[in-house]
Amino acid sequence: MTQPKWFTDGFPHIWLPYSQMKTALPPLAAKSTQGCTITLEDGRELVDGIASWWTACHGYNHPHVSQAIKDQVDVMPHVMFGGLNHEPALKLAKRLSDMLPGDLNRVFYVDSGSVSVEVAMKMSIQYWINKGQKGRSKFVSFKDGYHGDTLGCMSIADPEEGMHHVFNDVLFDQFVVDVPRSQNQLQEFDAFLAKHKGEIAAVITEPLVQGAGGMKMFSPDVLKNMRETARKHDILFIVDEIFTGFGRTGTMFAIDQADIVPDIICLSKALSAGMLPLACAVARDHIFEAFLSDSFDDALQHGPTYMANPLACAAANASLDLFDQEPRLEQVQHINRKLRNALTPMQSIKGVRDIRILGAIGVVQVWDIKDSNWLKERFIEEGVWLRPFRDIIYMTPAFTISDDELDKLTGAMARVLTQWSKL
Ligand code: PMP
Repeated sequence: MTQPKWFTDGFPHIWLPYSQMKTALPPLAAKSTQGCTITLEDGRELVDGIASWWTACHGYNHPHVSQAIKDQVDVMPHVMFGGLNHEPALKLAKRLSDMLPGDLNRVFYVDSGSVSVEVAMKMSIQYWINKGQKGRSKFVSFKDGYHGDTLGCMSIADPEEGMHHVFNDVLFDQFVVDVPRSQNQLQEFDAFLAKHKGEIAAVITEPLVQGAGGMKMFSPDVLKNMRETARKHDILFIVDEIFTGFGRTGTMFAIDQADIVPDIICLSKALSAGMLPLACAVARDHIFEAFLSDSFDDALQHGPTYMANPLACAAANASLDLFDQEPRLEQVQHINRKLRNALTPMQSIKGVRDIRILGAIGVVQVWDIKDSNWLKERFIEEGVWLRPFRDIIYMTPAFTISDDELDKLTGAMARVLTQWSKL
């Protein structure tokens, strides 16, 4: 395919994400998006199965979200959040507090998921400092976990499986333990927290699905047990709902299925409907109150330049309107049924190891992916945008995807995997 001039001129100056630049397939030149379709510069159209890293929950260019951004851009595209506040941010903070369970009432805005996790970590460490408990600065996280790419986030990822093992020597020393799925593991987890509680600031987990670590799932009971065990030992509990939040697992938040209230929750991705970068860490009242005093030293020292960007907050408010006005969670249930019907039979394809489905997430895990570039290219030939990684081929479509589009995705997956099994 001949590439447009902007591509050939600009590509030599680009460094791609998670890519060995020597061997990576050249990226496709995207021209436009609409609904669940990505149109390429050469005219090809792809049905999107990933919703741009799980963000575009209402599909691309949803007119209600686009209009909200357009309206905001002429009024005030950005203003610093230090000393100034604005309606989109405060309205959104109130709505999020109303939606979240318990007293998760204080919203701290940032501009990416990783940074919201960094802020949750800083809140937790300083919480104990402000309470006069010294030495509680470590985190307990879980194998197969992933929380972002900054140094603090890398330190709580799975050190073996994670994408960050090259940095192991320089990362902060943390505790990474097994997800307590069995009774034995739960007892070990309990004993571990009992032994180390004087060193631990918080336990942090992705609830129900460990996304980038390979879409590993666990039950609401496991999540509830984690939460209760942390509470028992007076350790803070952080949930990273950056991937799972806003309907992806079938409920508005994954924590709703376990009926728990974490001390801090991190939100991003679908928060702003895949339109603009936005994230936040939302804290319970007792966390916030631990920072109140007559000393500036007790205050939270964080404040990104683009914090609470009004355009992004306007997009997020418009996205929440759509969750209020349109049957998103029913659409997730519908997608779930269709994924069950279409993906379950793929268990019989040679080389397939496991099929996992939750909410609008469908995962086929294989024993050995062999050549992921071959799979990626075949999917594009089929007119679908699916990106296998590690040992999984998965889909996380927009909740607004049509039956025909979803059939196209699952049909392509079945055909390509069947062909792949014979390689
Ligand atoms: N936590 C989870 C669970 C994620 O899935 C991601 C992104 N894939 C992050 C944190 C990091 O978010 P960001 O890429 O916006 O920094």
